[in-house]
Amino acid sequence: MPASGQNCPVRVLVVEDDRAIATALHRALEREGYSPVTVGTAADALNALPVDFILLDLGLPDRDGAELFSRLREVSSAPVIIVTARGTEEDRVAGLNLGADDYVVKPFGVRELVARMNAVLRRAGGRDPGAAEQRVGALEIDRRAHVVRVDGTEVTCTPKEFDIVEFLARDPGSVITRQELLDAVWGANWYGSTKMIDVHVAALRKKLGDAVAIETVRGVGFRLVDPR
Ligand code: CA
Repeated sequence: MPASGQNCPVRVLVVEDDRAIATALHRALEREGYSPVTVGTAADALNALPVDFILLDLGLPDRDGAELFSRLREVSSAPVIIVTARGTEEDRVAGLNLGADDYVVKPFGVRELVARMNAVLRRAGGRDPGAAEQRVGALEIDRRAHVVRVDGTEVTCTPKEFDIVEFLARDPGSVITRQELLDAVWGANWYGSTKMIDVHVAALRKKLGDAVAIETVRGVGFRLVDPR
């Protein structure tokens, strides 16, 4: 069973272009109480973020899997298990050296894969940035309910506003660049002005009030801090 239980499914991104494997994985993950999202290309994978966990096939039609892995690590803090047909020892070492949390070679048993996922989630433990709930001062992010609270009172956010504050809260005190936010919230294939982010952030600041500070770092991005 996923670390967070039945009522708050862990969102798992399955990046796999082989339909048969993707379908089998999707069903198995659902049975295990996970909430899978299955995509067959690197482009769709980046657009599906944010998620809580990533299963990544290295052999994709539109982009080298290792390159995609690096990109995912830049824009997501979700654990990654590489699932691939490339099974030589050299490949395994390369996969783990990339920084993958684990490496599973096809053909694999779904039970084994799920056991490995659970192990990775346990290792991530309370420090998992994808944990169901997170607090930064008066701010509380409830990822299960998709709800933001300030001093215990629910703040009504648009989905984009939720994604922005959720992403900033993953690393409080650190500067998050506009590009990182754009990639995480709008997807890496979105092209357009980053000014739009400022509009959403301005709206968020009004809603969150003085108890939560989203500071603008000029020319760079934003930083979420506890002002108290
Ligand atoms: Ca493949």
